[in-house]
Amino acid sequence: KDFRNNVKPNWCPGCGDFSVQAAIQRAAANVGIEPHELAIISGIGCSGRISGYINSYGFHGTHGRALPIAQGLKIANRNLHVIATGGDGDGYAIGMAHTVHAIRRNIDITYIVMDNQIYGLTKGQTSPRSAYGFVTKSTPNGSIEPSIKPLELALSAGATFVAQGFSSDIKELTALIEAGIQHKGFSFINVFSPCVTYNKVNTYEWFKEHLTKLSDIEHYDPQNREMAMQTVMEKDGLVTGIVYQDTKSVPYEQQLEGFAEKPLVDVDLKIDEDQFNELVKEFM
Ligand code: SF4
Repeated sequence: KDFRNNVKPNWCPGCGDFSVQAAIQRAAANVGIEPHELAIISGIGCSGRISGYINSYGFHGTHGRALPIAQGLKIANRNLHVIATGGDGDGYAIGMAHTVHAIRRNIDITYIVMDNQIYGLTKGQTSPRSAYGFVTKSTPNGSIEPSIKPLELALSAGATFVAQGFSSDIKELTALIEAGIQHKGFSFINVFSPCVTYNKVNTYEWFKEHLTKLSDIEHYDPQNREMAMQTVMEKDGLVTGIVYQDTKSVPYEQQLEGFAEKPLVDVDLKIDEDQFNELVKEFM
């Protein structure tokens, strides 16, 4: 089970996304799936390149649209393990509506957001995750918008699995992704993945100083949604670990009529190639 391919990532040296890539590869191998059973669907941004760097099915989608593609794929072929990926600009700005609805819909896929609190690919503008007062070329006097709070947002939207990792702690991140893949339903994982080129505030050192591991909090119970929300608010979202998991979650697709039958991709359409091409023309 080798999830490495021979494509060399062109991320900047030190970018947090390298560790996310490695953690996905290790997690997939650890849970025992094969490369042909995994699909990585990405959006646009530096993070979007990840779908080309992993030996699996891959689809580099459009900005903010990784989730609709990933959900459609899972509905059509539930035998695939589907991981959608993106950055904070991708998932929390243009793709925010998809993020909220995918969370509440609870299709059995994993969504990993590489949160670097800035737009990296376009050379350093303020993102929805940048802190109030954050100075970039798009907010030279400091951002006057408060930042999106992804964990609180996911919990409010009815998430059945919420976790947060940090690129620097690849062991914990791998375990979180493994748990996300094995969760029955939508698993949402926000990852602090520093942009070493444009974000000189939220650096590896900054996160090491500010993050608290949920496993170090006495009596923390990730099955208690109220405790999860309260802890996240008290810590200003600066925690890592499994924040919340509903272990009785029933994925959306299992509630679909006809689910017990075979996946859509295995259904015999009973049409020949000419009829299929005619059908396709109707959608063009
Ligand atoms: Fe990573 Fe930032 Fe470089 Fe993009 S610009 S590859 S996010 S370090």
